[in-house]
Amino acid sequence: MRQFGVALLSACAFCAASHNSYPADCESPEGFAQVLRNSLSSAAAIYLPGSEEFEEVTTRWSEFSTPTVNLAVVPATENDVVETVRRANVCGLPILAFNGVHGSSTTLAQDGKTATIGGGTSSKTVTDTLWASGKQTVTGTCECVSYLGPALGGGHGWLQGHHGLVADQFVSLNIIFADGTLKTIDSSSDLWWAMKGAGHNFGIVTSVTAKVYDIEHRDWAIETLTFSGDKVEAVYEAANRYLSNLPAEITNWSWWLNEADVDPDRPIILFFIIQEGATIVDPAYVNPFRDIGPISSETKSGSYRDLATWTLIAVDSAPCQIAGRANTRFPVYVREYNVTAQREAYDIFAANVGGANSPFSGSTFLFEGYPQGGVQGIDSDSTAFAYRSDSLLIAVRLGYEPTGKELDDQAAQLGNQLRDIIHRGSGYKDLHVYVNYAYGNEKPEGWYGYERWRQARLKELKHKYDPQGHFNFYAPIE
Ligand SMILES: Cc1cc2nc3c(=O)[nH]c(=O)nc-3n(C[C@H](O)[C@H](O)[C@H](O)COP(=O)(O)OP(=O)(O)OC[C@H]3O[C@@H](n4cnc5c(N)ncnc54)[C@H](O)[C@@H]3O)c2cc1C
Repeated sequence: MRQFGVALLSACAFCAASHNSYPADCESPEGFAQVLRNSLSSAAAIYLPGSEEFEEVTTRWSEFSTPTVNLAVVPATENDVVETVRRANVCGLPILAFNGVHGSSTTLAQDGKTATIGGGTSSKTVTDTLWASGKQTVTGTCECVSYLGPALGGGHGWLQGHHGLVADQFVSLNIIFADGTLKTIDSSSDLWWAMKGAGHNFGIVTSVTAKVYDIEHRDWAIETLTFSGDKVEAVYEAANRYLSNLPAEITNWSWWLNEADVDPDRPIILFFIIQEGATIVDPAYVNPFRDIGPISSETKSGSYRDLATWTLIAVDSAPCQIAGRANTRFPVYVREYNVTAQREAYDIFAANVGGANSPFSGSTFLFEGYPQGGVQGIDSDSTAFAYRSDSLLIAVRLGYEPTGKELDDQAAQLGNQLRDIIHRGSGYKDLHVYVNYAYGNEKPEGWYGYERWRQARLKELKHKYDPQGHFNFYAPIE
């Protein structure tokens, strides 16, 4: 079995080790690497800082607020992960699992209703492999993101209108816990609830068995409309009127971004209406937007596998590139568009991001309207994902060349300001955050829900399964 990704021992772990009563091997990354070399399978790779491979496996999509990595392990077998976690435990070393760009095998089960997917498999590999067998499942939309990264925080995707979130497809999970034990868990486990929304906090998932479905519709269509910034009110009023409560076959996204050829000074509105089971998008959805007077309108048809290219999130699209840039996102869930807030946010976004001269000119404001039927058909209390009744995921992504704290602070100020505008316009007292887009300054209540019982249940499970907080790097529960 080709194993997923990389287990990272990070932060100042080795300095801590040298001050405590840990074995001598724990005192340096080199010593620890030697211990691992003797324990892991011959196909596992262990990389120390300074090597090209280390750079390759530890370079992140965003260069903002990156973890300090002392040693990287690319396991080849499930047992390699067990041994890495056990040995790290002996030395008191914190661990960060990651994934993202590493391929691994997807093994189709024989029953045709489930597939077992390796922990490091990309969304694209899952989609392509299943498609070749006449199957599909809910994955994140973006080709370069892993299958499990989104899933452990809920996971939004094109098929969620039918079947729910990515996490809603879990049938069983193989997890390596902080003490190095490997267990298979399913709905009979008390941890099951937490793995669907807060799953990053409990261990390393080496494989997942997930529900898969026969492909029902091979045809998909998209209408891509481009509007100038003066159309903000008209576009989002129409979105509220014609594209709310979306049926399972319709998805509506829009982006605000610079497109110098179209408008050299201000961001444009790129507006996507996507339909499953059609070769053109139903005019009932498209015509109200054509009537607003777009700069252009383009119709395309193809299959499910074209969606990522059409919406600019395929492996070779700009958002998928790891290019040394800082990428910070400020997400907020809302029920519908507040047109006044949209205008206020657009004007501030345009003033700070518009044109070629802003350090943030490569930024995007994302408005994701997925069909919600499948998501809302699942009892909200049955998973740690807390925001099933919210219809729209809005996030500004500020992308820039990192030059230091001043620019980071400027980005944080702008991102929070823009999010505040949308949040205030939402009518929600509390900030509802998609954990997988989180900037990091939100609270656990924002990521996992404000109900006291949710927080208490998560803490209880954390104390049971990861009492020393080994898996605390990514949106920690406390
Ligand atoms: C370009 C782009 C497009 C995106 N599109 C979508 C989308 O369509 N839908 C959506 O829901 N989200 C989307 N996201 C957000 C995405 O869910 C998160 O960025 C996610 O964390 C990425 O997972 P990764 O494995 O690729 O990244 P990584 O940085 O490798 O993983 C993120 C974290 O997930 C945890 N993790 C990953 N793998 C494992 C594992 N096997 N076991 C335990 N923990 C693990 C770790 O805590 C890790 O730090 C997108 C993000 C980007 C940058």
